[in-house]
Amino acid sequence: MSFNNVIGQEKAKQALRQALENDRLAHAILLYGPEGVGKRALAIELAKAVNCTQAKSDACDLCSSCHKISSLQHPDLKVIFPGPAQLQVEEEISILQKIAEDNYQAVGFAKSVTIPIDKIRELRKQASYHPYEGKRKVAILLGADQMRPEAANALLKILEEPPGTLLLILTAINLNSLLPTILSRCQRLQLNHLSRAEIEEALLKRKDISPEKAKIVAGLTNGNLTRALLLAAEQDLDEYRNIARALLEAALWGNNTEKLNLIETITAEKDKARLEYLLELVLLWLRDTLLWGEGRQDKITNIDRSDETKKMAEWIDSKKVAHLSREVESSLEMMSRNVNPELILIGLVEQMSTSE
Ligand SMILES: [Zn+2]
Repeated sequence: MSFNNVIGQEKAKQALRQALENDRLAHAILLYGPEGVGKRALAIELAKAVNCTQAKSDACDLCSSCHKISSLQHPDLKVIFPGPAQLQVEEEISILQKIAEDNYQAVGFAKSVTIPIDKIRELRKQASYHPYEGKRKVAILLGADQMRPEAANALLKILEEPPGTLLLILTAINLNSLLPTILSRCQRLQLNHLSRAEIEEALLKRKDISPEKAKIVAGLTNGNLTRALLLAAEQDLDEYRNIARALLEAALWGNNTEKLNLIETITAEKDKARLEYLLELVLLWLRDTLLWGEGRQDKITNIDRSDETKKMAEWIDSKKVAHLSREVESSLEMMSRNVNPELILIGLVEQMSTSE
């Protein structure tokens, strides 16, 4: 059945199934949790479940209502998301299509945009209407934590009015950005980071990639499937893994010319996200080295290259690995503050060469 389309999150799914079964679903549900864990996917499955003509506590995925909601083309479903106030209709349609294609796919709402107040006003007007063809009207507000006070107050008015058949499903990462008066009117369900195993399994199902690559990507993405899907599409993971390895070896054993040449090659890449990705791969090599040294070989991520991990574990002890990891983490932190990448890497290689 259809909550099964949502990966993991058993606790939240069970709570919703039970509420549906006992007719105790609140009029406003807030799904909150970190990025890329399936808030949007669960919101859509819930919209399907309340309107499904065949099943009660889940969606059948077969009836015409389920189909229409899956493709986000049901007349009683509204999906509202953060975006510029003057979003073109074609742009809106293309975002909705992307969401319908894959509920976990990144659609790229910028953090700086907010939910347009007009959309909330329009929703308020329609809230009292009867459904056109479904059992209930459903509005999904994605990124409800990206609302200005005026929009939040307009939403609050909807929540305060007699609900009619409208079901409001909000998703948010940061609860602190929501008005306490909104929070108190919603039934809250928390979603958690997905496990590495869940990410790995989902990648293998959805993408044509090798088990090794799925494992590495899962190891890099901290329970965020949206990010994992993006990384899995990267063609040059292996190339980056080699550069990360070379950086580590140069820092430990290289001479000055080798170090500088490598830094020059690396910083030719101007995309900051890719440089961060590279440093995360360095961290992954270090983590594997630590695991190998502790005799937990079965836990390493770079499984296809265990010889190299073994070698590294023979050369450096856990204290050194901890020192190196701290330096890489502090470089990542500087990257996020927009310090010049070349300076960061020169500093990093120098710090890694010194013994604590
Ligand atoms: Zn159905």
